[in-house]
Amino acid sequence: MKYNSVLDNLKIYEAGKPIELVVREYGIDEKDIIKLASNENPRGCSPGVQDAVCKDVSKMNLYPDDSMYELKEKLASRFKVESENIIIGAGSDQIISFGVHAKANKNNKVLMAKTTFAMYEIYARQTGTTILKTPSHQHNLGEFLKIYNQNKDIAIIFLCLPNNPLGECLDTDEVYKFLDKIDKNTMVIVDGAYQEYAKYKDKKKEINPQDIIQKYPNVLYLGTFSKAYGLGGMRCGYGIAEPEIIKALLKLRAPFNITNLSLKAAIVALDDKKFVQNCIKENFGEMKLYEKFAKELGFDFIQSFTNFITLELKNDKNSSQISEKLLKKGIIVRNLGAYGMNAIRVTIGTPEQNLRFMKEFRDIYLNDLEG
Ligand SMILES: *Cc1c(COP(=O)(O)O)cnc(C)c1O
Repeated sequence: MKYNSVLDNLKIYEAGKPIELVVREYGIDEKDIIKLASNENPRGCSPGVQDAVCKDVSKMNLYPDDSMYELKEKLASRFKVESENIIIGAGSDQIISFGVHAKANKNNKVLMAKTTFAMYEIYARQTGTTILKTPSHQHNLGEFLKIYNQNKDIAIIFLCLPNNPLGECLDTDEVYKFLDKIDKNTMVIVDGAYQEYAKYKDKKKEINPQDIIQKYPNVLYLGTFSKAYGLGGMRCGYGIAEPEIIKALLKLRAPFNITNLSLKAAIVALDDKKFVQNCIKENFGEMKLYEKFAKELGFDFIQSFTNFITLELKNDKNSSQISEKLLKKGIIVRNLGAYGMNAIRVTIGTPEQNLRFMKEFRDIYLNDLEG
């Protein structure tokens, strides 16, 4: 069969390996597997969420409220914007896809950092648009601006703040200075999937969605319940922008694009600020142990404003080989070899998980590598 030619250069996205697959393929007991590969919250979600979702299970036969009134109202009051500034998606992933399909086409271009969230490129390729990347792996606004000025037809710029999979984060005042120089017909997607972590660690990294969309009506800000709120499996994210952008995105949305149980979970999770703050505090406490660990073993890491840390290994220690050996011991991490880096990204787990990671990693790193 013939397909749209844009599919020819499109790879199927490979998510972090699920626990079920490691059980099947490596014959490891589920209780011995730790997944530090998808930046999920190792503490789960607020305890109230489970109860609320269980209570609502009897409503499974009913379609959800397609206006998503309650969640939008809650988000609007949290961020001091109006409901009409908000769109809800099945993960913020879905909103990235709406943004891309609203703007990109085969006659224009999109711009992103060399090593950033893989879905930006995948959605972009679906449209046949041209993809431009900065020479540096990490976000470098000088490079972004240079490429922007050399190309007149850039439809979208992606800024991942903080950046996945590397963990670095630009200062907000630098971002604003950059946005001052960008034409209002270029959509800037500001992906704040890890903003809860970044602003806790360093106020200079905080993006206030209300402020940014007010100053820059071409910005689409994204947030998610999948990371700090611990609801990856519920698939719920949101976009915040001027009503004009939201209206364009809504044209691409299928009805009932998120389940009523997901809506309920998000609504309840949003109220438990204390749970989220405790998780974030523990996250950065544990991250210090990883930093110490890297120093001890003599390799670098990238200063991270997220719930993961990217370990940059020395050339004689191959990240693919290490990831594979860890997997055989039931530890799932993200190998960044495919990005042309000899690095692995590790989600900060619970204290017990982190200790186990460090023990196994140390054994492999010091004793068990060929060549
Ligand atoms: C996890 C993540 C998302 C969105 O995840 P969803 O589960 O689809 O909400 C978006 N951007 C980045 C950079 C992420 O790491």
